[in-house]
Amino acid sequence: MKQIRRLCALAVCLCVCLSAFSCGQKYQKFERSRYDVFDTVTFLTAYAKSENEFLTKTQNAWQTLKKYHIALDAYNAYDGVKNLHYVNANAAAAPVKPEKELFELLKWLKSVQPQCGGRVNAALGAATELWKAASAASGAPPSREALSEASKHVDFDDVILDYDNETVYFRDPMLKLDVGAVGKGFAARAVSAALESEGIDSYILSIGGNITCGSAPKDGRDAWKVAVKSADPSKTDGEFLYLTNTSCATSGDYYRAYEYNGQTYSHIIDPETLSPADAVASVTAIHSDPAVADLLSTALFIAGEDEGRPLAESFGAETVWQEISE
Ligand code: AMP
Ligand code: MG
Repeated sequence: MKQIRRLCALAVCLCVCLSAFSCGQKYQKFERSRYDVFDTVTFLTAYAKSENEFLTKTQNAWQTLKKYHIALDAYNAYDGVKNLHYVNANAAAAPVKPEKELFELLKWLKSVQPQCGGRVNAALGAATELWKAASAASGAPPSREALSEASKHVDFDDVILDYDNETVYFRDPMLKLDVGAVGKGFAARAVSAALESEGIDSYILSIGGNITCGSAPKDGRDAWKVAVKSADPSKTDGEFLYLTNTSCATSGDYYRAYEYNGQTYSHIIDPETLSPADAVASVTAIHSDPAVADLLSTALFIAGEDEGRPLAESFGAETVWQEISE
């Protein structure tokens, strides 16, 4: 009995010592990047008390990121996975129960797309794939005939969701989903939730420039400093933003645009004309929800500043605009 009491006292003592040690430890900054998701680079900077704590507590976040990447991948098939690639190939034949991350995204889009006035349309795949092929070949824009044919197959109402059975069905067999406008932001929402649930609160995450940050860096600064890339190629940085507990996404004509015969074609397609939008050089949307910031950056790029400002306000988002230089 005495021995048990001694052991208990020793255990309590050890716990007190360990927690005192961890309280006394200073926060350090850790950084990691990876290149294997969403066809882009992801950076994570976070504060933790040791490298071991950083590695352990960010594991779940990295797994979440990978899961979203696979679920929203339009180009690759994975064994036993009903991702976007699978849905695009099969959902016209019969309802498909996709990965839950993809179903959640489609459900969310059904609720928010109408608020964007038709500017963001995840059913635009038949048109965006024509532009992506032209861009990949740095070739002539798609013909009017091809675009006009595609325009018959871009109605998001033809994407039928069964909320009880969590299935998706395409009423139009030629329809293709393209979730590129919102995928990274939607994933960032889940990744930041995973970080916070593990107790990582001071962090900044960038998935291909979709930035999400937690509380201020634990080094005395008030906020994370984020540079908006200047649309003017002769300058490195545009405006600086100072952010905590929020996110921002930028859509710009200097990202993924291509040139043909001296003309620049952006990768963002105006659903009204099925041609690349060219109202502004770039727009950054700042919103507490990274999915909304990503959705809005695309919608605002198409809307332009005059129509875009009230649209951003309707979501409670802030914006930074860059005009096209003459
Ligand atoms: P972002 O860079 O967030 O503005 O997203 C652009 C990507 O979204 C493009 O590469 C396309 O895959 C897709 N996309 C382009 N135009 C639209 C649109 N009007 N609605 C929905 N997705 C679009
Ligand atoms: Mg976007």
